[in-house]
Amino acid sequence: MSLRDHLIARITAQGPMSVTEYMGTCLLHPTYGYYTTRDPLGVAGDFITAPEISQMFGELIGLSLAQSWMDQGCPTPFTLAEAGPGRGTLMADALRATAAVPGFHEAAELVLVEASPALRAVQADALNAHAPRWIDSLADLPDAVLFLVANEFFDALPIRQFQREGRLWRERQVGVKDGALIFGLAPAQGQPALAHRLDDTREGDLIEDCPAAAPAMDAIGRRIAQHGGAALIIDYGDWRSLGDTLQALQRHAPVDPLATPGEADLTAHVDFEALAQAAPCPFSRVIPQGVFLERLGITERANTLAQRLAGTARDRLIMAHRRLTHPEEMGNLFKVLGLYPQGHRPPPGLDP
Ligand code: SAH
Repeated sequence: MSLRDHLIARITAQGPMSVTEYMGTCLLHPTYGYYTTRDPLGVAGDFITAPEISQMFGELIGLSLAQSWMDQGCPTPFTLAEAGPGRGTLMADALRATAAVPGFHEAAELVLVEASPALRAVQADALNAHAPRWIDSLADLPDAVLFLVANEFFDALPIRQFQREGRLWRERQVGVKDGALIFGLAPAQGQPALAHRLDDTREGDLIEDCPAAAPAMDAIGRRIAQHGGAALIIDYGDWRSLGDTLQALQRHAPVDPLATPGEADLTAHVDFEALAQAAPCPFSRVIPQGVFLERLGITERANTLAQRLAGTARDRLIMAHRRLTHPEEMGNLFKVLGLYPQGHRPPPGLDP
């Protein structure tokens, strides 16, 4: 049986499913899920992320978090956490860059929030020297000082989609027609949680809501508010989303999200307004990734690395710098949001 057969059997027996349920099943079904069964990252996989493009990304994030830890008086012990660590590359680069920060590694308990058994195994190889502990959900984070990074984590959380009809909303669903998966719309209903979207949408507009995002931000922000710490959340998206951003990527090319369930990565743009407003602690302005990395000194770091390189290695480094920072590449599409405690400043690179 394939995931498509499983989905068609379910929908035939129980009726159409919401986009959230479809996305969640495709990504994390225990037997057939996209993340559950494979390491999708890198040139040979389906997509590539900033830490896989260059070591500079994880290094600068590690240094920003370590500086924030020092600015808060080096609280000891603390949780150093990553949500959705992929191959563990970002955290490995962050740890290498912060090895010289006095007391930082000794005070850190490394906690990785990861749903995929396949990726946990890859992370174990990358990070075993730092004795990581894995948890299933951000709700299970230790009740302690928290320094956390999440890169391309929130875009993988399943979304609901709603199309406006008058003052009501029709939820987008996945059904079956002639043996194929198709999109459809549920009957119109009032959605009290979407009341604020009646002001900025028109008839027929489609909006998205990520139900798991607010509890995740609450779990992170509550620890930072109560105990101290900081979080850096990096993803593609913007302040308040509008329109259908559900997308599927397979071997670095866009595909129909319904065509190959469980075989393609499914993501949606992140609504940074919804994330910020769910955080029970102060949050920074949302800024483009390119600006954030420039402020942290990515160009100086690239120049230092370039002095030791020649030929294609040097060309690759220059390309990587451009990909991470240039507005036409990842520099503008990706945004950074920081969380921090009352009475402190956001981590370096961000403004209150
Ligand atoms: N941060 C990494 C990987 C991004 S891919 C990088 O930048 O390279 C998304 C990551 O989030 C994967 O590790 C995936 O397995 C994990 N993930 C997706 N949904 C999750 C969930 N609901 N709970 C925990 N981890 C999840």
